[in-house]
Amino acid sequence: MAIKYEGPAIGIDLGTTYSCVAVWQEQNNRAEIIFNEQGNKTTPSFVAFTDTQRLIGDAAKNQAAANPSNTIFDAKRLIGRKYNDSVVQDDVKLWPFKVIAGSDDKPTIVVKYKGEEKHLVPEEISSMVLTKMRETAEAFLGSPIKNAVVTVPAYFNDSQRKATKDAGTIAGLNVLRIINEPTAAGLAYGLQKKSSFSGKRNVFIFDLGGGTFDVSLLTIEDDSFEVKATAGDTHLGGEDFDNRMVKHFVKEFKRKHKKDISGNPRALRRLRSACERTKRTLSFAVDTTIEVDALFESINFSSSITRARFEELNADLFTKCMETVERCLNDSKMDKSDIEDVVLVGGYSRIPKVQELLQDFFEGKELCKGINPDEAVAYGAAVQAALFSECAIKNVPNLVLLDITPLSLGWGLIRDRMSVVIPRNTTIPIKMTKDYVTVKDNQSYVLIKVYEGERTRASDNNLLGSFRLTGLPPAPRGHPFDVCFSIDENGILTVSAVEKTTGNKNEITITNETDRLSAKEILRLIQEAENYKAEDMKFKKKVKAMNALDDYVYKMKKLMKDKCVSSKLSPMDQVMIKSAILKGQDLLVDDQQEEKFVFVDLLRELKSIFEPAIVKINNAWTDVYSDED
Ligand code: ADP
Ligand code: MG
Repeated sequence: MAIKYEGPAIGIDLGTTYSCVAVWQEQNNRAEIIFNEQGNKTTPSFVAFTDTQRLIGDAAKNQAAANPSNTIFDAKRLIGRKYNDSVVQDDVKLWPFKVIAGSDDKPTIVVKYKGEEKHLVPEEISSMVLTKMRETAEAFLGSPIKNAVVTVPAYFNDSQRKATKDAGTIAGLNVLRIINEPTAAGLAYGLQKKSSFSGKRNVFIFDLGGGTFDVSLLTIEDDSFEVKATAGDTHLGGEDFDNRMVKHFVKEFKRKHKKDISGNPRALRRLRSACERTKRTLSFAVDTTIEVDALFESINFSSSITRARFEELNADLFTKCMETVERCLNDSKMDKSDIEDVVLVGGYSRIPKVQELLQDFFEGKELCKGINPDEAVAYGAAVQAALFSECAIKNVPNLVLLDITPLSLGWGLIRDRMSVVIPRNTTIPIKMTKDYVTVKDNQSYVLIKVYEGERTRASDNNLLGSFRLTGLPPAPRGHPFDVCFSIDENGILTVSAVEKTTGNKNEITITNETDRLSAKEILRLIQEAENYKAEDMKFKKKVKAMNALDDYVYKMKKLMKDKCVSSKLSPMDQVMIKSAILKGQDLLVDDQQEEKFVFVDLLRELKSIFEPAIVKINNAWTDVYSDED
């Protein structure tokens, strides 16, 4: 790892539902998971917009039921995808917020902020969550942070990775590297357990989160962590199981009360939150009740569900999980018995049925629950970040992390045949070149359409982009040219093509810019992010000024109620103070449009009325109120 960066570098697990941040602490030789301002180690990946402010994390999630159409979550399911993508189409139906097709079919989220309609791209929402994580770490470290390693599911494709990197840039972060979540978790597990084992060890990472499911097989040997295979499902996680329960209770509500709540976002949001809690309870109880007061048209909803019923509702999803596990093992060409450790990661891996099936699959092997499933990914990301900065990691001074490409990469030949240049599960970084020949006489150009995926028909795979290799010299068919695919450490792909025989170095690189935000757009969004930040600061300062005024009015009222004080005031002072109190109260009630200085000025005015009057009656007024800031 040649390049070292100045200053601390953090690791961020940017989750679909929860995010987590960690930093390597050299003095303790371990990564520290950082608490947010609410005292939680994970922060909901939620952003909300109201008439007065923008909220991120816990504050946003806590008001979700009251403000469903302006509370955005799951941005990770949108990032790097097209609006037309079937995954997006399915999700849109379930979300209480509005998503429309923007330019280039990019999903665009529509919210109301301070009374105005705002259009946001998923990168912006993710950047807000990343900003929150950066600020959480800055508060902990007491210094600004520029550099970060951000994790993504192993199955994220090229455009999803690039979009995540862009989100980091908008959040003012230099994203040192994008690494795979299960790889990060494996790194965390390996480092924490390394002292207790020696030699080579095959570790299976099972990460079932809120939105995605990822499995990886790693081989740990000395200082090397090598990913052997990964598999996953970009659309399988706790939320899918929650949705099943939501659907179940929506049906039950219809049956019991003859009313359909499925068109009411607020009711659905409240029901979903209750279902999430119920599901968690079912991790340790075999049955539980669910209650939501005034769920719909003042009808109180209450019901119960058993763990067995919950498992039945989700039977196919559990099966899907195990199929992915099997696929990963097949890809790695290893046998179940070759696996030494099976590590549970992700909040959803706590579900008993999941653990039971996994244990059965590995023929009764004890599962490793030693690392915290919510923190492992951020921990590993912090380790990777430390390797980039000036930090030293004891025990593994020369740690090497070898990741792989999750999908095959190639291009479409004549008759739509996929020619794979880099097979799936190849260790990265990698550069591979293949020779090709023209198919027609005097062919002057070749259209190179780049795909990722495993299907033999190219167009069944995911199109990443295309370019032309032009300027081929006149020649009979069979004229040679090279196509080179290279993947850097971030898993980001560059494709080039060269016609060599004539020395004509016609080379084009594809960077998949069509799906990506342009440099200009990123700059604009960085500016927007600054504006949001300035508005948030302004709002915080206004609230502080309002609180100071509120405190002062309260103290004034209290002292005026005290007969020993008020009876000594002159009638004139009494009138003035009472009117000052009313003025303060009025302003505090009507806070919508006022700027901070209005509250500061009024506080000053109240003090100039109240304090001389109090001094006159020689009563000790000792409280000093600060109106600075
Ligand atoms: P992501 O990385 O996708 O954001 P996490 O790994 O943080 O997700 O997992 C979040 C999911 O785990 C949510 O669906 C949450 O409801 C679920 N979860 C958290 N704790 C528990 C628990 N004790 N039992 C069942 N599910 C849980
Ligand atoms: Mg996760």
